[in-house]
Amino acid sequence: MTASNKDIQQTAPCAGALYPTPMRVPRLIGQISGPQVDGPTLLCLGGIHGNEPSGVLAQKRVLASLQQDSTGLVGQLICFSGNRSALADNVRHHRLDMNRVWRSEILERVRGMDAADLRDEEIELFELDAALADVLGEADGLLDLHSTSGPGKPFVTMDDTLQNRAFASALPVPRVLGLQEAVEGTLTSFVIATAPIPAIGFESGPHTEESTVDHAAAAIWLALETLGVLTRGSRTEIADARALLTRSSGGLTSVVEVRYRHAVQTDAGFKMEPNFHSFQKVTRGQILALERNGPVKSPVDGLMLMPRYQPVGSDGFFLVRKVHPAWLGLSAWLRRLRAERWVHLMPGVRRHPEHSGSFLVKGEQTRGFVQQVFQLLGYCREPTASCQTVMAPRGRFPQANSN
Ligand SMILES: [Zn+2]
Repeated sequence: MTASNKDIQQTAPCAGALYPTPMRVPRLIGQISGPQVDGPTLLCLGGIHGNEPSGVLAQKRVLASLQQDSTGLVGQLICFSGNRSALADNVRHHRLDMNRVWRSEILERVRGMDAADLRDEEIELFELDAALADVLGEADGLLDLHSTSGPGKPFVTMDDTLQNRAFASALPVPRVLGLQEAVEGTLTSFVIATAPIPAIGFESGPHTEESTVDHAAAAIWLALETLGVLTRGSRTEIADARALLTRSSGGLTSVVEVRYRHAVQTDAGFKMEPNFHSFQKVTRGQILALERNGPVKSPVDGLMLMPRYQPVGSDGFFLVRKVHPAWLGLSAWLRRLRAERWVHLMPGVRRHPEHSGSFLVKGEQTRGFVQQVFQLLGYCREPTASCQTVMAPRGRFPQANSN
């Protein structure tokens, strides 16, 4: 076994609340590998939002355990920090949300800048982008660890690809589809498009609770086993992790999809009404938050997701609904069948003349049956200035094919 994790600090979660916990961490939190030269590799990221230290603490805990006892370790674990300066100041971010900046126009600008001209999150993005470029080629999956400002159980967020479905199914928690489409520029969408590997987010619980670190560590143990970095059933931590997440999620393992995102404008005076938590039922017309212009009412019946109880952030809350297992089965079958070969036969749909694999859809066809077919096949909308909608397979970097 080799261990190059000299940066690991034995940081146990402090007694009492984790928040605030400003921390100074290196970009590479640690790296550890087993004897197999070309064994599988899990990339892990914590603290892409600086007020979410649980992911960093969980990574340190798992790395320290593996360093002490490498039983079952045949592959490699590489752990990165996300927004180092925001972690040091215990804020979500300074100028830019680090989980909204993984877009071609921002990356190209930052990659082309002189190091001396970079500021705040531009530095973070420049460094993390370079660090990922060095290791993505050897990676088999990425786990991006988060926490929430409001109360709630742990859950997975993911782009709906078959690889992600398989990777996430190892975690006995609810899985949320469509969040990455509701918010542009997430790290996981970027990774999926850059390297053909699964990349999922894991919301470990509230920022302020110690159990959030336990959940994040459990997710890492299970991801290590799923990718084969640890041999199956080789350690008690794996079984403990599965039991913990099963308990903490209350046996809830449904797949849900985002139906609505409440975007918060800078000067809106957004304030969530108290006592909402993720996966709580809400009804159409129910008052969920207050803004200067008046109450914010739920536009649909559904389940609450990630109510914002922190002052910063452009997402007020999301509303989700359960996805029927039959829909998931049907979509997996159609994708394996490569049914996208025939979608250009639908009314108002034609193959994109320049971008192989994408389709142009006339405005009036972007809802209803045609939209559902594209969803089943794993396609999402790409932002475009055209009056026609571009549907591209998930896994293509959003906006990367505009010219
Ligand atoms: Zn986060």
